[in-house]
Amino acid sequence: MKNTPPVITRIAPSPTGAFHFGTARTALYNYLFAKKHGGTFMVRFEDTDSERSDRSYESDILQSLSWLNISPDVITRQSERRSVYRGHINRLLASGHAYESREPSKKDPSQEVVVIRYKNTERNVSFKDTVRGTITIDVSDLGDFVIARSIDDPLYNLAVAVDDCVMGITHVLRGDDHITNTPRQILLMQALGYQPPSYTHIPLIHGEGGGKLSKRKGALSVLDFKRRGYVSGAVCNALFLLGWSPVDEQEVFPLEDMVQAFSLDRIQKKEALFREKKLAWFNRQYVQALPEAAIRREVMPALLRRFPFRSLLNPRVLSSIVQGVREQGTLFADVRDRIQSGDYDFFFIPPVYEPPLLIPDGEDQKQVRQSLTRVQELLATRSGYRGWDAVSTHELLLPYAEKEGKSLVFWPLRTALSGREKSPSPFDIMEVIGKKQTMARIQTALNLLRE
Ligand code: GLU
Repeated sequence: MKNTPPVITRIAPSPTGAFHFGTARTALYNYLFAKKHGGTFMVRFEDTDSERSDRSYESDILQSLSWLNISPDVITRQSERRSVYRGHINRLLASGHAYESREPSKKDPSQEVVVIRYKNTERNVSFKDTVRGTITIDVSDLGDFVIARSIDDPLYNLAVAVDDCVMGITHVLRGDDHITNTPRQILLMQALGYQPPSYTHIPLIHGEGGGKLSKRKGALSVLDFKRRGYVSGAVCNALFLLGWSPVDEQEVFPLEDMVQAFSLDRIQKKEALFREKKLAWFNRQYVQALPEAAIRREVMPALLRRFPFRSLLNPRVLSSIVQGVREQGTLFADVRDRIQSGDYDFFFIPPVYEPPLLIPDGEDQKQVRQSLTRVQELLATRSGYRGWDAVSTHELLLPYAEKEGKSLVFWPLRTALSGREKSPSPFDIMEVIGKKQTMARIQTALNLLRE
């Protein structure tokens, strides 16, 4: 039996910008494929262009991967491998597959430079692509392409071809915008006597407005999604299904399930369409499944910033907000913004609002006053704190609300307590602020209605 080498995959990001959503998908697929086959997943920074590369982008890329739980087994930099490329360029020069060419500089045509060109004698290059089948490209019009600006300055195709072979990369999974580079890389590999890896070119992700998702079109770096409050599992899950289709209807895939399920043959042949709405849907699924403590960690700092002492004194405020986030699958950043802009201040201080807010559509002031007075009487029958939880007060008021109309009874009560058009239910608020505050706020509302 032939021994198959262990699977080794890689991504080769250039650290010249924040880690893009599309590259994250490529990383995920490479990671999943390697893990599924017990192999190795590498990150190889393409940082030979020292003018454009920046270490801060390397750290952005690594932080993004770590946030997504995609952990590389090996991290390397091309800038540290110059001697390897030099050795290979020398081999190509010695074997006559490459030659030095003295020519006017592109930057400054009055200057002469010596570049290294590959001596191209081929006509067609064919390779098997997992997604598209056999691809044949006429390479005769590529001419003798440049592979290095000098012996110490290899260009992309040379460095990639050398690294993929020397590092034993078995499977190259990358965006299909690289299809046109593949023949050049194969030519170089063959000239060096190496066997090319297997290629899978993944159709790119397109945005809703059409066209491929580019860095320029808005915030599409991975850490932007983090900053905007998405849960990493949801982002990973959405990426997974942007270009790969499951055998059945399953949509929610924890990372372990993705490893199990992933296969190259189900990579879609069409471009994937990124829709933020779908990502928000995944986010809801993941937030709803999060333990309460995890949501608390996201919300608490904002609450403490807004009300340093009171937040600590009344832990029920946090619980109530956390419960709301969980039920609605709200983005963490949105809750934090709401806390910051005062949307939850009513938990701590009596609200200030305009009296018409108390009156629901289609009702008049007198009816509202009557209903709120009756609610006040009913609530007054509860002595002390017993029966003051949200379930009990709801039970207490429900028969009256069903008789008079829920909106006539609950809307004025809720707005009297929160001063907001949107807020948690009046029962939740009453439980958190307690009976004394509740009664005081109802009285304030009644006074406003009397004026
Ligand atoms: N720097 C290239 C990219 O990020 C790498 C291409 C490759 O995987 O060979 O698109």
